[in-house]
Amino acid sequence: MVTRVGINGFGTIGKRVADAVAAQSDMEVVGVTKTGPSFGCDLAVRKGYPLYCTFDDLSKIAAFSESGYQCNGGLSDLLSSCDIIIDCSPGKVGAENLAKYKAAGVKSIFQGGEKHALTGMSYTSSANHFENLGVDCTRVVSCNTTGLSRTLVPLQEHCLELGGIEVNCVMIRRAADPGDSSKGPINAIKPVLKVPSHHGPDLMTVSPEIAITSLAVAVPTTIMHVHAITVNLPSGHGLDTEKVIAMWNSTARVLIMNGADTRITTTAEVMELARDIGRTWGDLHEIFVWEDGVSLQSDTLYYFQAIHQESDVIPENVDAIRALMGSEADWRTSVDRTDAAIAEFNGLS
Ligand code: NAD
Repeated sequence: MVTRVGINGFGTIGKRVADAVAAQSDMEVVGVTKTGPSFGCDLAVRKGYPLYCTFDDLSKIAAFSESGYQCNGGLSDLLSSCDIIIDCSPGKVGAENLAKYKAAGVKSIFQGGEKHALTGMSYTSSANHFENLGVDCTRVVSCNTTGLSRTLVPLQEHCLELGGIEVNCVMIRRAADPGDSSKGPINAIKPVLKVPSHHGPDLMTVSPEIAITSLAVAVPTTIMHVHAITVNLPSGHGLDTEKVIAMWNSTARVLIMNGADTRITTTAEVMELARDIGRTWGDLHEIFVWEDGVSLQSDTLYYFQAIHQESDVIPENVDAIRALMGSEADWRTSVDRTDAAIAEFNGLS
């Protein structure tokens, strides 16, 4: 069965989710929404994604054709033709949208800008795919939380029977996305003064047994977040630095490279590497870990990781669709399928 997927909000995340869904043989994009005519409509037209208006107002729908775009109707029309809707609207407009999805009887997936309380369920592929099987609504956690999940869940699984891990994380966050001219700072470092920050503990919405706190600062860069992470391991963990590196080397969607050997010493080179890989928009779905920044000293593990904020959550959305539709119970199978299809779509396989 092919799952019919609608995307509400065709912005930074929405346009990427649309491509990732279109790449899958068990899914199809039945439509994407825009709030009104803008340059993003051209992309939808070029890709062949049917265009809908985010709203049902006839005047707003008519504005599309007045600007030369074929609009197939409002959100209600899109909902009537899909099995599941991926809400990629800006954070905090979710509650209003969720009511519309529920009324239409359509399953829904929200993004990390919404609170866990909206959906009561959150999602990352490695942490809790199984718990999300068949549910009506979930939230793919933020780019930061997805990044933490990728590297911390395998460590937690290794240490579970010994009492689990305790994590402190400093999140060094990009100020704005590259296409966003409305945010800052542009010449300052801005600490999040509500301490500890909410970012790290959000991981507990998908992996509640990981004890984690965080501090966060925003810095004037647009390309990536960096996490500086300290993990306290329970005694008897049996790991050393090499074993941790080997663990992440065999972890899906984690890319671990030696900074000195490869001359990848900053996020600028990481993003250049991503552009070389050749996915659309130069995306990096993997979490990048500097191998030479990993050090396990006694029971304390130190490492840095970099997050391509615009794209690490994209393959998770595809896996989340399979979870909610109940079409694949095994997260590893879904991850392999998702990633292979995206690679093929980008001409990389
Ligand atoms: P964006 O501003 O780039 O795109 C949002 C799109 O939704 C725009 O096209 C906008 O016109 C449209 N929109 C506006 N109001 C809407 C409504 N009421 N209903 C539906 N669509 C509406 O935002 P984004 O960066 O793509 O973020 C989308 C979600 O993904 C947010 O929850 C955000 O927190 C989350 N997220 C963003 C990033 C990132 O780095 N950009 C990373 C992970 C998660």
